[in-house]
Amino acid sequence: MSKEKMFNCEQKDYIINRLKALGAADVGFCLADRVERIPCRAEQRIPAGAKVLIVAVFGYYSGEYPGRNVAKYAIPNDYHKIIGDLLKEAVADFEEHFPNRQFAGFCDVSPFNETQAAQLAGLGVVGKNGLLINKETGLYHFIGEIATTMELEPSEPSEGECLGCGRCTAACPTGAIGAADKQGCLSAVTQRKGELTAEEQKLMRKTGTVWGCDICIDVCPMNGKRLTEIAAFKEELLPVLEQENVKDALKKKAWGYRGISVIKRNLAAVYGEEK
Ligand code: SF4
Ligand code: SF4
Repeated sequence: MSKEKMFNCEQKDYIINRLKALGAADVGFCLADRVERIPCRAEQRIPAGAKVLIVAVFGYYSGEYPGRNVAKYAIPNDYHKIIGDLLKEAVADFEEHFPNRQFAGFCDVSPFNETQAAQLAGLGVVGKNGLLINKETGLYHFIGEIATTMELEPSEPSEGECLGCGRCTAACPTGAIGAADKQGCLSAVTQRKGELTAEEQKLMRKTGTVWGCDICIDVCPMNGKRLTEIAAFKEELLPVLEQENVKDALKKKAWGYRGISVIKRNLAAVYGEEK
């Protein structure tokens, strides 16, 4: 191995170990210009000359909850804050350890197609439901990426596909998998503002869903149930939303951005006015 390559490996090992110490389940690297860009305001934060994305998956699975009426990702407090804080800590560490290099972290509100970035960084294949399947976290994870001016060798992209078993397509209650228009997806329906159609309300009642939908994730045989190692994903868990607890949780949960009226509308659709 050349000296330069060895040095690159050491840098990468440092980054991987640091991110894993912060709770990442898996870490890889890809070239930024190979990843589809999504125009958004966050684009302004990409460091000039950033060539590489350090990509990490953070598992959030904390168990099964009888009577759960929100998607599992929405049970703990808002992942934007939790992963955002972890990425900030990582960026501060890298800035100190690699002076004269720039870093900027993103999660979900990102100018990069995160699923594609993760696949290119060797972190898993993309399932028929469009979600990344990682060997450690299955489909229960968030993807975070740090754009950097460091020159790090990219990982081997993940090759191949999911099993193609079709269980997700068969279980999806809306036919959204493979459809050109994803607006019918139950997760999107619960997040949409405005009135729900009678059909949408019926579907929410049938599935008992107040926020989000995990059906295509839960049925996937490539999924795993490794419990999260991130402490913040194990605290203040709220698997069952009710009229009484919604207001208190509003500022802490990922669904809070939609506001109380959408959640109350959803609760009414599922349970009637009483819940
Ligand atoms: S989240 Fe639910 S509605 Fe959306 S594609 Fe998956 S199973 Fe279908
Ligand atoms: S359920 Fe089957 S087809 Fe769907 S993502 Fe998982 S492995 Fe692929």
